[in-house]
Amino acid sequence: MGDQLNLSHSWFKVKDADTTYLLVEMTEELTYCTHHIQKICAFFKAMQAFAKALKEAGHQVRYLDLDDMQAYPATLPEFLLVFAKQINATAIEYQWPDEYRLRQSLKTLSKQTDIEIKSFSTEHFLLEEKVIRQRFSPNKSIRMENFYRYMRKRFAILMEPQAPDKPLGGQWNFDASNRKSLNKKMLDQVPQPLIFESDAKKELARIKKHKIPSIGAAENKHTWPVSRQDAVKLLQYFCKKQLIHFGTFQDAMTDQSEYGWSLYHSRLSFALNIKMLLPMEVINAAVKAYEASKGAIDLAQVEGFVRQILGWREYIRAMYWINMPDYKNKNALNAKRPLPAWYWTGDTKMHCLHQAINHSLTHAYSHHIQRLMLTGTFSLLAGINPDDVDEWYLGIYADAIEWVELPNTRGMALSADGGLIASKPYICSANYINKMSDYCQSCDYNPKIKVGDKACPYNSFYWAFLDRHKTRYRNNPRLAFAYKTLESMDEKDRLALNKQASQYLGALDSL
Ligand code: FAD
Ligand code: SF4
Repeated sequence: MGDQLNLSHSWFKVKDADTTYLLVEMTEELTYCTHHIQKICAFFKAMQAFAKALKEAGHQVRYLDLDDMQAYPATLPEFLLVFAKQINATAIEYQWPDEYRLRQSLKTLSKQTDIEIKSFSTEHFLLEEKVIRQRFSPNKSIRMENFYRYMRKRFAILMEPQAPDKPLGGQWNFDASNRKSLNKKMLDQVPQPLIFESDAKKELARIKKHKIPSIGAAENKHTWPVSRQDAVKLLQYFCKKQLIHFGTFQDAMTDQSEYGWSLYHSRLSFALNIKMLLPMEVINAAVKAYEASKGAIDLAQVEGFVRQILGWREYIRAMYWINMPDYKNKNALNAKRPLPAWYWTGDTKMHCLHQAINHSLTHAYSHHIQRLMLTGTFSLLAGINPDDVDEWYLGIYADAIEWVELPNTRGMALSADGGLIASKPYICSANYINKMSDYCQSCDYNPKIKVGDKACPYNSFYWAFLDRHKTRYRNNPRLAFAYKTLESMDEKDRLALNKQASQYLGALDSL
């Protein structure tokens, strides 16, 4: 599979003349949603680089591209059976797909053939599937923070050397000292992102020839590393230039810097998700850079980064597997509105969303807080149908693969899972966006105005959301202050906010 490019897998330790490794450009995988063109190219290029690396290491490899695949059935199990017959295979072996849909599909193989079918771990993730089943239960909320502490202890990451149960520096979490906005001086210091330039002309031509639908800007140069060597370079670059302020500016957003689309984020998600990098390798590199810096990089930065990979990434995957397939249909808030058309073009007067969507269309990337608090929160507040929102996130980002996209979208951003992942909905008014970014300065709307001409939609949406869902959320301690404010509001003001929200909701496409 295109996301199973783990060169250190035990399969490849032995050279076996009887084994053929097969990599395939499946149309089925390119059309289950509309993907960003750079995502498709990056997958193809990475698969080709992987095939080349295997060949150079002496393995037998077959790479079937879209042209070659015209001769075969379009669905994976059927194709595999035809191909196996063609090469007189005595067995088909595969690594467990990370996507529920594909795993189910491959499970049907053994029913359709007498040849031996064997499946294996991808040897990528830190948490074994057996442990997921022990520690997580379907439809049960497990808090990330508790899980993260378990992972820190289990893998002995950032723990006190003399007291292995205690976190280094006496604190598990440095959120309070992190998450600052960028001031003028810091804006000039934002590092230039490391971009990889490689020619994608052939891939683009193939995609065009086979009429694969796509979105986003097609560029010949690649933002994404598509070989193991480049992935390692990106990791080193992050440790050298970006880790130093990773936590501090994790939630910052700006349009005042050319590099505002990447800031201090690592952009390692694509390389990690297609398994060119191992999570522990990334964690170890960051911890090593922190230790070698002798105080130049502070603990809060490295802890913030480690939490994303050791904590969030593994936790999200566990929540996916324990809750699938039901998770895919969750819509606890009964959100039904269609996604505004401008999500696909960036053509909105709301400057924050215009920026976040344009970054996404240009780079097949936007950083976490843009995904969560801009595109995500807007969809949540406006009651957009989670199916539409999922489709958008799954297509537009190069790193989007269902196991990680779905729980982040339905759970973290939309609270559509009824609070399994997020203990409170991630909502904010314009105040927060104005605090963390400089977007509001260039916006047609005014972040300080709640009702009337120029009122920022986030404001009335925020209060109308709280009002609409008070039965569900009013006793949530994390929203106590917001509900206190809502309840002490003059009835006239509350009604005016609801009226403003309804008016905007009725004209979402023209916001
Ligand atoms: P950094 O900010 O540099 O973080 C380092 C690494 O931590 C990331 O590369 C990633 O591997 C991991 N990480 C951080 N946060 C998360 C998280 N919430 N879940 C899982 N891993 C995390 N991430 C994806 O990889 N694929 C997706 O399809 C995806 N969809 C998302 C959808 C929504 C609505 C939201 C709110 C988040 C989504 N994320 C997704 C998580 C996160 O936004 C991205 O991992 C991150 O922005 C990738 O950029 P980066 O590599 O620069 O991350
Ligand atoms: Fe976004 Fe509102 Fe600020 Fe405009 S005013 S940038 S819509 S938060």
